[in-house]
Amino acid sequence: MPNSNKLITINALQEHSNENPSGVESQNWQYQLSHCIKDFKALCEFLQLEPKNIPFSDHASQEFPLQVPIAFAKRMRKGDYNDPLLLQVLPVAKELVKTPGFVTDPLAEAQAKKLPGLIHKYKHRVLLTLSGACAINCRYCFRRHFPYSENSIASKQWQDILGYLKQDATIEEVIFSGGDPLASSDARLANFMADLAQIPHIKRLRIHTRLPIVIPDRITDKLCQMLNSSPLECVVVVHANHANEFDINVSQAISKLRATGAMVLNQAVLLKGINDTVEAQKALHSSSFSAGALPYYLFVLDAVQGAAHFDIDDQQAQKLMRELQAVLPGYLVPKLAREIPDKPNKTLLSI
Ligand code: SF4
Repeated sequence: MPNSNKLITINALQEHSNENPSGVESQNWQYQLSHCIKDFKALCEFLQLEPKNIPFSDHASQEFPLQVPIAFAKRMRKGDYNDPLLLQVLPVAKELVKTPGFVTDPLAEAQAKKLPGLIHKYKHRVLLTLSGACAINCRYCFRRHFPYSENSIASKQWQDILGYLKQDATIEEVIFSGGDPLASSDARLANFMADLAQIPHIKRLRIHTRLPIVIPDRITDKLCQMLNSSPLECVVVVHANHANEFDINVSQAISKLRATGAMVLNQAVLLKGINDTVEAQKALHSSSFSAGALPYYLFVLDAVQGAAHFDIDDQQAQKLMRELQAVLPGYLVPKLAREIPDKPNKTLLSI
């Protein structure tokens, strides 16, 4: 029997490659989310690549599936096996190598879990894994082994979370994370935001999301109205690692977010072979700023099992940052940081 996902994907790609106006990218964000590319051969066909020339691993893909939205795949260079966007999503055999020190929960989030879906690690902030779904599966993701099924937030869990937030008046900020929190519907987000706004000591809402980058159509008018009318101070932290991730649609999505009054920041991960040169970093942060997102953090890789081939040692990272400082104005230089379990905050790496 043919795989139905594969058929959907190939049909979607055919619509797209024929520039058919009813193609995937012209549909709403939910449609685009449900028609991401999940089939390796279909991705190769779309990018004009020979599958046999790629060290694709079916086993790695079974552990953490290949998934990429068409709107993002369109920004990959056709015929380029080393495209920096492609390398972020391609399941390869190197992921199966067990590297000492690389573990399934590199940030020890299990220890900081207070309730299903709620992580309380730092003072005054809590993080909610609002949705286990992502539009794109990034191979370096520190939550690639996260037990989302044990942390889903249905009505009962949400009431428990509200109880937790209400009884701790030191909590000032709630972070919607995931997965990708914007994989949730606008209606679900609106309910959550309205409940949070009723808690007097909650001042800020932060949303960590890759969706404005990978499916810019996710930034709907309804979502913008919700952000605009919320009494909470809203911060949206997007996630792009390479200048090529920005295009006109991403810029428009970020402009819409900024027009709500939300602050928009970008955080990135330093990744070997993808953005580990001064030129790539300079272009990334310049493009991010031009699109409307101020560079925020550049994280060194979290030691998650399956991602060791992206790792860069600290000395190299610090050298890169020193060189970057010399070619960018200070406001475009992100903070080089790592998250260390048990520390009360992110740890900045001196440069
Ligand atoms: S949580 Fe973020 S980094 Fe991880 S796979 Fe999803 S979009 Fe990528």
